[in-house]
Amino acid sequence: MAGMLYLVPTPIGNLGDISQRCRQTLEDADFIAAEDTRVTLKLLNHLGIKKSLVSYFEHNKTQKGDWIVSRILAGETCALVSDAGSPAISDPGEELVKQCADAGITVCAIPGPCAVITALSISGQATGRFCFEGFLSTAKKSRREHLEALKDEQRTMIFYEAPHKLTATLESMAEVFGPERPISLCRELTKLHEEVIRTTLQGAMDLYAQQPPKGEFVLVVAGAQPKEEVLATPDDAAQRVKTLMEQGLSRKDAIKQTAQELDLPKNVVYDAALTL
Ligand code: SAM
Repeated sequence: MAGMLYLVPTPIGNLGDISQRCRQTLEDADFIAAEDTRVTLKLLNHLGIKKSLVSYFEHNKTQKGDWIVSRILAGETCALVSDAGSPAISDPGEELVKQCADAGITVCAIPGPCAVITALSISGQATGRFCFEGFLSTAKKSRREHLEALKDEQRTMIFYEAPHKLTATLESMAEVFGPERPISLCRELTKLHEEVIRTTLQGAMDLYAQQPPKGEFVLVVAGAQPKEEVLATPDDAAQRVKTLMEQGLSRKDAIKQTAQELDLPKNVVYDAALTL
């Protein structure tokens, strides 16, 4: 019988956040696939667990993935962990889950620490609808293109960011979203120096012009305000009918087209056209 793949989230700072179920799964697994075996070894030592570790990370994932799948198909159970937080979320794992699913292997994700959800909950921004955008590119052009595509996004947007790229990212965001867009900078979550700075993009830029950003950050940016719909007036309708008739349309066709274009009832456009 085939084994299983467990996705085991690990603390993003506070070691107390490892759950009983995660601990038990790590103990029961036949082997643990880890992003960095040195980081995971520290956690296992803290938990008093001894277990066979294999490395599974960005640059060996194709070849290691096949090997892990074959071991699971042979009946072993694998627990996948990343350095911190939920595997497969901006971390290795996405490919392995796909490979296992394709091979008919059962995948079980254990809920637990995840920086994106922790940050959203504490951000003070709207949580009803949100989109997770992961890391922005380091290249200015692609970063800009990514942000441009989000210019009119109305949902709350969440980004992961490294401290040394933060100021460049804030500048690009201010250029695209405008300096007054609200942002919550969620820093060092669950750690001793946990901090949430609820400000605007300009406020954040001013702050970090004085002190360099330090630690791990999740950026929670408010979505765009819905655009106010400008309703066409009878005067607009009359002008449009006039233009269309000057272009050669019959009065009837000009009224019909104007009603469609301006999303107005035909009789309103007809009455407006009488004033011409
Ligand atoms: N898979 C992990 C998760 O979903 O929690 C995220 C891994 S990703 C490689 C690392 C990024 O997550 C960091 O650059 C930072 O943006 C965010 N992060 C992780 N731990 C954090 C913490 N304690 N406080 C704030 N952000 C954190």
